[in-house]
Amino acid sequence: MKILVLNCGSSSVKFQVIETSLEMIQANKDSAIAKGSVERIGMSDSRLSLEVPGRKTYQEISEILEHRTAVERILKVLVHPTQGVLGKVEEIEAVGHRMVHGGEKFASSVLVNPEVEEMIEECVVLAPLHNPHNLRGLRAAQALLSGVPHVAVFDTAFHQSMPPKAFLYGLPYELYTRHKIRRYGFHGTSHRFVAIHTARLLKRNLEDTRIVTCHLGNGCSMAAVKQGHSIDTTMGFTPLEGLLMGTRTGDMDPAVLPWVMAMEELTLAQLNAMLNKHSGLYGLSGVSSDMREIQKACSDGNRRAKIAFDIFCYRITKYIGAYAAAMGGVDAVTFTGGIGENSAEVREQTLAGLGFLGIELDAEKNRNLPRGEEVIITTPASRVAVAVVPTNEERVIARDTVRVLGGVMPSFAVPDNEAPR
Ligand code: ADP
Repeated sequence: MKILVLNCGSSSVKFQVIETSLEMIQANKDSAIAKGSVERIGMSDSRLSLEVPGRKTYQEISEILEHRTAVERILKVLVHPTQGVLGKVEEIEAVGHRMVHGGEKFASSVLVNPEVEEMIEECVVLAPLHNPHNLRGLRAAQALLSGVPHVAVFDTAFHQSMPPKAFLYGLPYELYTRHKIRRYGFHGTSHRFVAIHTARLLKRNLEDTRIVTCHLGNGCSMAAVKQGHSIDTTMGFTPLEGLLMGTRTGDMDPAVLPWVMAMEELTLAQLNAMLNKHSGLYGLSGVSSDMREIQKACSDGNRRAKIAFDIFCYRITKYIGAYAAAMGGVDAVTFTGGIGENSAEVREQTLAGLGFLGIELDAEKNRNLPRGEEVIITTPASRVAVAVVPTNEERVIARDTVRVLGGVMPSFAVPDNEAPR
């Protein structure tokens, strides 16, 4: 079956058409037949692009003022007589939607119905920058593809298996019971995908493994995946916590915030912008949020870029140690995301001090990865395997859509992991 996957942001819609079925998923043969995006929604020069394997990228520039028009144009280009990949729109049998925040309401991917839609709406307060756009895309697609099922897949759902000792903060308990302030974690679809694929690569059952997954892109997070369940993750109530990121601070002393607000006379909006947009690799280096630029500046001798690079790697190293302790050992560490998949330097520096854990990197394999493939980059003698697994969040969304429709979508909730209300 063909599934349309939609990922709607504030001014963009990313899409893929994925040919899939339960059997194809089992055989790891599900794949995208087309992908693309609409960028700059709301502007007069919005850009639609379509990539089809083996063809030149097709682009269209026109005014697209809202998400519904964007989805309309996507459907139109998909059935375009020369550029398209579908004979008719009816070939799309279901739509999978990326949803950022499912709060504590969703520990699984779900078929959207009015009740589910209302529950997603209730999560807007937790992700005011993301969920409203996700919902806008969902409603546009429901209106244009009313005859097919729509499935919602949440970034947070995989981490709903965390126990209270991992998800509660040391704040007054009422903040949890009244406002649901706790660690949720994000990038769940990616952590789940790479953990499953790492177990497969190791020829082991996921249920018998302890895997630390490192998703390093513009946003970065790690997860401790024990026996297939996320038991801890670095991002928190929002994606700001944990690792150093392109423009986000990651972990820091919260007491700095009121202090900086007073000293620099910042408003709340300015403080938020500082933490989310002007910090991280960018704020430390003054060079860029892009790891390629940081690495280039390091080799040109830029000391602030080197500090930023060192902090970036050091935090990952620390969390690998922490998660090995949390899981009572570790069988594999997996890197994914733009940086995790492409930066041999980050992987090398991160793992350099971890010989004591039993990690023996194969320097040659680390430096010469076959592009886009899933590989192990440690020596055969290494007690802990290190893997690079390219992530594919759209593929997970399509897989979940098939599973939800086939009635075989597991819940990530585990018994006894609820905190007292
Ligand atoms: P997003 O989180 O937006 O999906 P990506 O997963 O594409 O982002 O990751 C973007 C990051 O990957 C950027 O910091 C970019 O510099 C980094 N990156 C991409 N290619 C390389 C490379 N060859 N070496 C180092 N970093 C890279």
